[in-house]
Amino acid sequence: MKCPACSNMETKVIDSRVVEDWMWIRRRRSCEYCENRFTTYEKVAVTDLLVLKRDWSKQMYDRDKLKRALVIAYGKKNLSLEKIDDIIAKLENKWSWMGKEIASKKLWEDILNVLRDEDDVAYVRFASVFMEFETKKDFKDILK
Ligand SMILES: [Zn+2]
Repeated sequence: MKCPACSNMETKVIDSRVVEDWMWIRRRRSCEYCENRFTTYEKVAVTDLLVLKRDWSKQMYDRDKLKRALVIAYGKKNLSLEKIDDIIAKLENKWSWMGKEIASKKLWEDILNVLRDEDDVAYVRFASVFMEFETKKDFKDILK
């Protein structure tokens, strides 16, 4: 695994954590050259997941969009990119067992369920951020 700071190929694993219910592994690595520490995830890849929208149109799942939304939801005060990567890894792992398509409503439900366990403030903010992207009715259904 290449070091993201110096591109050196020699990195060692300093900690591995298996989260069994989600079936993914998180590893802390250390670069043997510059001693930079970084995290990698081992999980089933979510490659071409299609999101089925309410109006029956389809859209490719967009990890960057989800990440941006989570960054906004956490806000500057609570922001931990590592935590956000954890959340995305959890969700993608879950979705990877569901096949090639997922209904957008199910997608938002899963995200909100995970956030509700993690952080109340982020949960409420995320819900309001996505009011802009999805129809209000969907959200009223989910939040009930
Ligand atoms: Zn390095």
